[in-house]
Amino acid sequence: GGTHTQRTGQLGVVKLLDNAADRTFDIADISLCQAIANVLANALENAQLYTSLEKRANALQAAYDDLSLGDKIKDDLIQNLSHELQTPLHQVIMQLDLLITDAFGPLNHDQREMMQSTVNRIANLGELIRDMVSLGTLDTMDMRFEEAALDVIVKETIAKLQPKADKVGLQIVPMIEPNLSHVRANKERMAEALEQLIDNAIKFSPRTERKANQIHVRVENTASAMVQVSIQDYGIGIAQSELERIFHSGYQVDGSRTRRFGGTGLGLALVRRIVEGHGGKIWVESEVNAGSRFCFSIPKFEPKSQNIRQR
Ligand code: ADP
Repeated sequence: GGTHTQRTGQLGVVKLLDNAADRTFDIADISLCQAIANVLANALENAQLYTSLEKRANALQAAYDDLSLGDKIKDDLIQNLSHELQTPLHQVIMQLDLLITDAFGPLNHDQREMMQSTVNRIANLGELIRDMVSLGTLDTMDMRFEEAALDVIVKETIAKLQPKADKVGLQIVPMIEPNLSHVRANKERMAEALEQLIDNAIKFSPRTERKANQIHVRVENTASAMVQVSIQDYGIGIAQSELERIFHSGYQVDGSRTRRFGGTGLGLALVRRIVEGHGGKIWVESEVNAGSRFCFSIPKFEPKSQNIRQR
């Protein structure tokens, strides 16, 4: 939603608060009231934010599921709510980071550990909110497609994530077919999907349990009218029985993994929706303790498909 939708939302509120004239409430007003009530309810809950990450995540998901509102109002709400939640999170993280760097005096080991784990939890919460907003707005946003060079998007995404990989001694290696066809893509969403997959490959390749210090990102033409991307890691892998479910929203393999690696279980659901929104397919091959390969394919660009908008 841009400024236009924001303005629509504000006008709606002004209209709602105008009690000068006798009036009845129509369905849009009631939706708006529900929307405001939902935001207020969330704001109240926000006060208890730091007590339980899990509780918070469930409540947010439920609140989002409940929003049976007009699309644009819903988008605005999600954006606003996200902003309201992210801003204090950033502030808290910045302040804790200051404490951790001994800016206000030396900390002992336990204090530092505690602070660091708090920062990590808050960062996870921020990630959850970001993923939810992304997933929530995917329904309603116009996916605009254009001719795009996937190799450029892949290289940019790798450049963005390599510093993070460096920190854990991993190298992200692009393997790009020289005569790669252009694809029909929404560049921002495609970058988001790639970032999520490569980020997972980093996250699930912990130093002590990986078979190789690399992540391979292969991009190639297929025999059909598709371009295929695969992200191969040599990390902890995924059990056969879990492979179907990991693309479902909110699904995580098991509790111990979540405690260890954090995360929201929304990332792959988002990636799947983006890929399928492009008319593509996504799948995974994996072996426990050997690594995972996430693959997706999206259609090549064809001049006649230019500027098609999809709801
Ligand atoms: P999360 O935020 O938990 O990472 P995702 O939707 O991205 O959520 O992933 C869902 C689950 O799939 C993860 O919790 C993890 O158990 C598993 N998973 C995803 N990517 C990988 C990978 N590259 N290697 C091993 N397991 C993975």
